[in-house]
Amino acid sequence: MTIFSRIIAGEIPSYKCAENDKFYAFLDINPLAQGHTLVVPKQEVDYFFDLDDNDLADMVVFAKKVAKALRTAFPCRKVGMAVLGLEVNHAHIHLVPLQSEGDMDFRRAKLQLTPEQMQQTADRILAAYEAR
Ligand code: 5GP
Repeated sequence: MTIFSRIIAGEIPSYKCAENDKFYAFLDINPLAQGHTLVVPKQEVDYFFDLDDNDLADMVVFAKKVAKALRTAFPCRKVGMAVLGLEVNHAHIHLVPLQSEGDMDFRRAKLQLTPEQMQQTADRILAAYEAR
């Protein structure tokens, strides 16, 4: 079981941003910017491009809805999307609110937010997602 499967199962806590029957979105624990969100399939697949065509398409459509909620909650120029997967072997999309190109630099120092700030951040995104 991957760490993300354990998060989806509720065994490990997470800051939930959105969910449907096939996908789960939650805050990245080491955010590049406030609102940095991970979108993961509930199905355990390692490599993003190993998802079958329908699941891949559905995941991007779900990510689109999360990105819209994210931008509503945290106004930004654009929401950036990236797929790395070098650390966690469970397919995921990073969604990062962007004001500049540097906001998507994965080597830069991560934001330090308190648990209260993380919870408030997730609550704002979830409220925007549910209000869509
Ligand atoms: P990648 O696999 O795309 O290179 O990076 C994995 C991402 O997942 C990283 O940005 C890391 O901060 C995040 N991450 C790793 N473990 C956890 C976790 O237990 N909880 C949360 N919320 N994020 C995690």
